[in-house]
Amino acid sequence: MDFCIDDRLESLIERTRALGLAEARPAGLEADRLGRPIPVDHPYFARLVARGEGRTSWRGRSPAAPARPARSGSGGTSQRTIGALLYVEELAYWDRGVVVATPGVGLPEASVLSAGTEEQKERFLGPFREPQRPMWASLAMTEPGAGSDAAAIRTHARRDGKHWILNGAKCFIGNASRAEWILVQATLDPSQGRAAQRSFFVERDTPGLGGFRIEQKMGLKAYESTSFTLEDCRVPADNLLGGEERYERRAGFETAMQTFNAGRPIVAASAVGIGRAALDEALAFARAHDRLGDVRVRDRLERAARRLRMARLLCLRAGWLADRRAANIVEASMCKAVAAEVALDATSLGMELLGTIGCRGDQLIEKLYRDVKAMDIVEGTGQIQRVIMARKLVGLPH
Ligand SMILES: Cc1cc2nc3c(=O)[nH]c(=O)nc-3n(C[C@H](O)[C@H](O)[C@H](O)COP(=O)(O)OP(=O)(O)OC[C@H]3O[C@@H](n4cnc5c(N)ncnc54)[C@H](O)[C@@H]3O)c2cc1C
Repeated sequence: MDFCIDDRLESLIERTRALGLAEARPAGLEADRLGRPIPVDHPYFARLVARGEGRTSWRGRSPAAPARPARSGSGGTSQRTIGALLYVEELAYWDRGVVVATPGVGLPEASVLSAGTEEQKERFLGPFREPQRPMWASLAMTEPGAGSDAAAIRTHARRDGKHWILNGAKCFIGNASRAEWILVQATLDPSQGRAAQRSFFVERDTPGLGGFRIEQKMGLKAYESTSFTLEDCRVPADNLLGGEERYERRAGFETAMQTFNAGRPIVAASAVGIGRAALDEALAFARAHDRLGDVRVRDRLERAARRLRMARLLCLRAGWLADRRAANIVEASMCKAVAAEVALDATSLGMELLGTIGCRGDQLIEKLYRDVKAMDIVEGTGQIQRVIMARKLVGLPH
């Protein structure tokens, strides 16, 4: 395995560091203090778009716009995922909530790239090739009664001539109320479990899409996690992801799971970024308060640093396999399970070292402590990752 990165990627990460320090960290702290997501019209988003951020990696049929290098990595095809992981880790170091708030297609892009028809890529990714304003998309799987058990979703889709009619409710969906479109997971028949699931593009302002309510969160306040409802929400037949042909192959659940699989190393890399920030805070505090002479303090700092490095290597291994189009289900689950845990430990260590000062509510470490927990929850909890790995270990189907 070779994790060396080329000069272009190195300089992208350096620019990201500068952006993080100057813009992402302050924007995240402001959102945390105000207790609400960064607004759509925040100048930070406009500046990002002006710099070419928020672009899809899909190049389209015309050679028009170059893809935004940041999300996909810029080290050439063989380092695409590695580049994305290092970029996200660096930005999450400054603020993970801001990473998710950043304009762009985000999570559903992988589903559209792998399963969308050419017409759907043009319609739904096309506007993200050279956006002139901040734009978002969103992926909605989770429901009030279906989180880890994604096969249990109840949002229902019924065919009606040239349309589909959707009814149901979703919760904790990233960037949903500001999205141009939401890729909604629905079932044609709840009694058939995963085989009956399909994904539908639901465009903003579609009648029946509404009831948006931004959830209260303990951390990651820079981006919105939103519940919404679909009431007799009518979408064109063409909005079925992959079209009729894919519909016949009953591939709706599989596509969604592949998307979460691809996203796990990204979440894991974010956890490593948060953990590194916590470690730096803890070190700075210990140094400023003459605690580095204490062998127990040094030992705990070293342990956190070592485990974070181990988690990063697991992320890179998952990314390296993805760049070679090799199966990485176990590695994706492993890095997610491990990174979330060690990052949580690093923030706990920081809180303990700061003691009462950490509990005042005005220290970065306390925000990192609240931010990091979601890394263990989103895109499959730690327990679910362990279930996946154990099933693989003993040869049961995924
Ligand atoms: C900040 C945040 C952002 C999110 N963003 C999105 C988003 O953009 N789109 C989206 O669709 N969803 C999103 N989610 C939802 C997220 O995917 C779910 O919260 C997650 O899948 C867990 O589901 P749950 O909360 O319903 O917990 P449950 O599934 O009810 O689980 C509760 C507990 O039981 C454990 N458990 C459940 N089943 C098993 C099992 N079989 N074996 C062992 N333990 C088990 C879990 O690990 C967990 O500890 C987000 C959540 C958060 C917190």
